[in-house]
Amino acid sequence: MDTIYFDNNATTKVDEHVLEEMKPFFCDLYGNPSSMHTFGGQVGSRIHKAREQVAGLLGCQPDEIVFTGCGTESDNTAINSVLAAAPNKRKIITTRVEHPAVLTVSRELENRGYTLIELGVDKKGRLDLNELREQLDDDTALVTIMYANNETGVLFPIEEIAAMVTKRGIVFHTDAIQAVGKISMDMSKSKIDLLSVSGHKLHAPKGIGVLYVKKGTRLSPFMLGGHQEAGRRAGTENVPGIIGLGKACELAAENLEEENSKVKALRDKLESAILEKCPDCFINGDSENRLPNTTNISFEYIEGEAILLLLDKYGICASSGSACTSGSLEPSHVLRAMGVPFTAAHGSIRFSLSRYNTEEEVDYTIEKMPEIVNKLRDLSPFVAK
Ligand code: PLP
Repeated sequence: MDTIYFDNNATTKVDEHVLEEMKPFFCDLYGNPSSMHTFGGQVGSRIHKAREQVAGLLGCQPDEIVFTGCGTESDNTAINSVLAAAPNKRKIITTRVEHPAVLTVSRELENRGYTLIELGVDKKGRLDLNELREQLDDDTALVTIMYANNETGVLFPIEEIAAMVTKRGIVFHTDAIQAVGKISMDMSKSKIDLLSVSGHKLHAPKGIGVLYVKKGTRLSPFMLGGHQEAGRRAGTENVPGIIGLGKACELAAENLEEENSKVKALRDKLESAILEKCPDCFINGDSENRLPNTTNISFEYIEGEAILLLLDKYGICASSGSACTSGSLEPSHVLRAMGVPFTAAHGSIRFSLSRYNTEEEVDYTIEKMPEIVNKLRDLSPFVAK
């Protein structure tokens, strides 16, 4: 069997239709969209179409879309820009379970004198909205809370949060990088001011992102230079990336429901079979309010890294935390924030599926998992022999 890829929250395969749309923009239509000549101008009009395709998926206006270099840039731009626009306000509210693209910037700002509130979560990874409400005050410049967690798939009630925050006149940003393309959204009815997207999480290439900026929200650019993106993000556009992201968004909008129900059925089959066949394991996170493609399972008494290595021997790719934190031996900050005991956090595996996964792949993994877990438990000093 070929490689079985269950690591789609780390990155996804570029859809073949997306690649086909991108190809002409390397060697044929390679003009600079800012050029005066027709050759460049035709590229500009294709970027306009891509902007419409992205806007179609998010339910917003095309001029509310700013193309960026990646999801991290979108998050950084949103946070720094809101603070620059409100120099008299000194408080930022976020959560302890954000991706480093938000947490690292926020903590850096705290080092520079901002007050940072990191809201905690309960053992299912849920926020206490009363705690958030109590923290909102006149000094608060920004609330930034993720839409869906990359490690557990837990969804926060983002529309409710956005309404609560913006009612107080405070700007609300959400890192929706794991949610876009999996959860249907309509920005025309939403109170969200700023929303981050990353192409490589929804079958577009790496190195392209979007920041949705609600009309009327002040944005001070992070990248200074030329006048691209209506002065909101300087730098010659990543044209093939933009074209690819446009197509990926169009495909996601067309197939979202059908694909999600297929992916969810496979995820549920994999998850329930593992729970049934492997003793002493449990799901991390709120299984009710979760992305359809993600499951995060802790296996007691054994190391996640050891499970990954054995899965890898069978050609199965999964993850033991977010792609950015793996490689370090620190257990996941998300699971620690949920109060998952140290050893169980160390023994956690994330499977994240996509439309390319098949029932055959799930069945093969279901067959191999008990074998792997039993083998490692036989070697574990923590299991009574
Ligand atoms: N935010 C979340 C929730 C993510 O999952 C990721 C990527 O893993 C990022 C931000 C960073 O996005 P990018 O890789 O496009 O910089």
